[in-house]
Amino acid sequence: MAGIYLHIPFCRQACHYCDFHFSVSHKGREEVLAAMRQELNLRAAELQGQTVRTLYFGGGTPSLLTRDELMQFFDVLYAEYAILPEAEITLEANPDDITDAYFRELRNTPVNRLSIGIQSFRAEDLLEMNRAHTPAQALSCAPRAADAGFGNISIDLIFGWPRMEQEDWQQNVATAFSLPITHLSCYGLTIEPRTALSWQIVKGLRHPPDEEKAAMQYEYLLGEAERLGFPWYEISNFSKPGFQSKHNTAYWQGVDYLGIGPSAHSFNGNQRSWNVRSNAAYLSGMQRGQREFESEVLSSAEKFHELMLTSLRVREGLWLGKLRQEYGEAITGQVLEAAQPFISKGWMLRENERLSLSPAGLLLADKITSELFII
Ligand code: SF4
Repeated sequence: MAGIYLHIPFCRQACHYCDFHFSVSHKGREEVLAAMRQELNLRAAELQGQTVRTLYFGGGTPSLLTRDELMQFFDVLYAEYAILPEAEITLEANPDDITDAYFRELRNTPVNRLSIGIQSFRAEDLLEMNRAHTPAQALSCAPRAADAGFGNISIDLIFGWPRMEQEDWQQNVATAFSLPITHLSCYGLTIEPRTALSWQIVKGLRHPPDEEKAAMQYEYLLGEAERLGFPWYEISNFSKPGFQSKHNTAYWQGVDYLGIGPSAHSFNGNQRSWNVRSNAAYLSGMQRGQREFESEVLSSAEKFHELMLTSLRVREGLWLGKLRQEYGEAITGQVLEAAQPFISKGWMLRENERLSLSPAGLLLADKITSELFII
């Protein structure tokens, strides 16, 4: 089983916090999309006949694609890859792009899951974030998607935004759960270097985020999500039962995936690779019939870290049987010893063959996980 990620590297405008690869100039768009189809052709053999269980159009802004542009991708995907009929096929969409007509067109494609980048329902946040949509568009998007026949709708929110108070966040959470959604992704704001937000904070034009407030907002979200039937299944992800993102879950389970397009990452169990983070360099490489990328083969210690990082992010946690099988009894014993102080504090749970973070431990996930990097 494998997944395919397609990175659409164009956006309408630059959100101030965003560190993903994208271009607001759409010059050369047709050529880049053609090069991505070429990359799909070129790399089909890499999955060695594995069936594809998930396709994910991310970005950037995939909802800038017309139905014809999407169908051109599907033509190559279905011709070159063994895609399961029940595959989960997600398209990230921004509220400002999706008119009712666009929803209807999307329903006439294989896309069966939408991930809508709402981030906040509050006008002042959207303005400060430099999002291209309005609160009215944020509010109407999921209901219109449901009316158009989409039954699997996820939305994204950001917590910890500077000046977002607890009651503002509570209102955002209540609004999110009042919508016809099956899944919610919530990310704490991180200040990435080289973003407008980072520059504004350095220049004193904006307050830095308040970690305590962000932690309170996350705790509130955990409680509300559980109460309203969207239990957390990964540190930033909440869903109704049966609606966990199969694509992201596969990442956390170490399943192979192919990343297509500028800056997209791929993984084959042993090696990670990433395409060049420039539309022009990507295009010129593909025009020479060459994929411009870098790669690294994971060392045994890196694989171990990867296992700890990914398994402790998910509610299911780390299966000790798997750890024993892959790393032996001695390493497993050392991990349990390192985990003991956190278990005693109530930040980790040990249930038979499973070691996981408790809700209180989720807030300290990075610190706890790094303490368990015993090799
Ligand atoms: S729309 Fe998404 S990818 Fe584009 S700038 Fe905003 S957050 Fe980044």
